[in-house]
Amino acid sequence: MLDGVNTTPLKDAHIVYDKKQIHFVGESSPPADLLNTGQREPDLNLSDYTLLPGLIEAHAHFFLEGGELDLDKRSAYLKQTPEELLSAAHPRLEKLIQLGVIAVRDAGDKDGVGLALSKLYNNVKRPLMPYVDSPGAAIHHQGRYGSFMAEPIEKYGPLKKSVEARVNDGADRIKLIPTGIINFKKGAVMSEPQMTTAEVAELVTAAKSFGKQIFAHASGDTGIERAIDGGVDSVEHGFFVRPDQLAKMRDRQIAWVPTFAPVQEQVDHADLMGWDSEVVSNLKKILEQHAASLVKAQQMGVQIIAGSDAGSVGVAHGVGFLYELELMERAGLSPIAVIKSATGTSSNRLAFKEKFGQIKPGFLSRFILTRHSPLEKISNLKRDKFLVFDGAVFESSGVDKLGL
Ligand SMILES: [Zn+2]
Repeated sequence: MLDGVNTTPLKDAHIVYDKKQIHFVGESSPPADLLNTGQREPDLNLSDYTLLPGLIEAHAHFFLEGGELDLDKRSAYLKQTPEELLSAAHPRLEKLIQLGVIAVRDAGDKDGVGLALSKLYNNVKRPLMPYVDSPGAAIHHQGRYGSFMAEPIEKYGPLKKSVEARVNDGADRIKLIPTGIINFKKGAVMSEPQMTTAEVAELVTAAKSFGKQIFAHASGDTGIERAIDGGVDSVEHGFFVRPDQLAKMRDRQIAWVPTFAPVQEQVDHADLMGWDSEVVSNLKKILEQHAASLVKAQQMGVQIIAGSDAGSVGVAHGVGFLYELELMERAGLSPIAVIKSATGTSSNRLAFKEKFGQIKPGFLSRFILTRHSPLEKISNLKRDKFLVFDGAVFESSGVDKLGL
């Protein structure tokens, strides 16, 4: 049993749970008052299984169809109405459950898809779906990167008004886009950051005044520095982060969500994307540097959180997240470190409204049971497994057979 926080597995663990929550976890027998009257033996003896918390995807965009690689089809998809985008997102929910993903932190859209799903989750009559929370529209500057998922600060005047508008829309947290993105052709972030440190800090203060966490899309070391100094809760992507910045992140408890998948997908489908060998070599260099930073961050004690940026080109919801976990392992993290980043660390750091991501009394009964130990290799999570979700059992026949 892996509890999502500790690195040492518990062998021969006893677990007592009901539909709602976990009541007991330990190597000794559970106390009799937690069992059925007269019960001496476990209801199930699964000695050849590994039990671990259901997975938390910490960076996904429900309004985008990530699996789509054709750029024309992607822009046609985005021309749909918000209602159409929302109904296209619905079938993803049950698939995520089947894959073992029990919670998703949506990373923003301006069509209200993430907010609608967050609201749906909070409805007593919700369908089978993971926990979802959302920042609504991300916050950026007019004319700068992010207009497809953000609303500009300029629309609201004072910075605090932008945050207030999101909160009024029902945002669970606040998402900022203080930088641009990587220019793949040049292999660098070419544009100046969108926001100053003072702007980030003011938005952070505003978010805190509403009791909300704030997460920042940031790539390029200049922009990352501003996000860190502005006091965000997590740096998303963080391409080109420097070691001294990782140290600051550790000291200030700023988490890092490295999102390898969207860049790796560009390498995997370089022909389709029209990249020549020079661009591919840039991309590979970026990924190598990112991998080295991830290993360094782990050694330094930075809080690392797994998120795939699902919805980006080639990054399908659910399957793309399992791929992200493989990429983190490929980068040099041990399987247990990857599992922690997708469970306990996320659950401890991201202020979700419910308790999941750990196997501990008081946490929801949402966990994976598998005969293919992910400690051997993380890709074992793609194979057949069971997911217990609020006491109900779902069987997943493995990614290859799910046709995803
Ligand atoms: Zn994103």
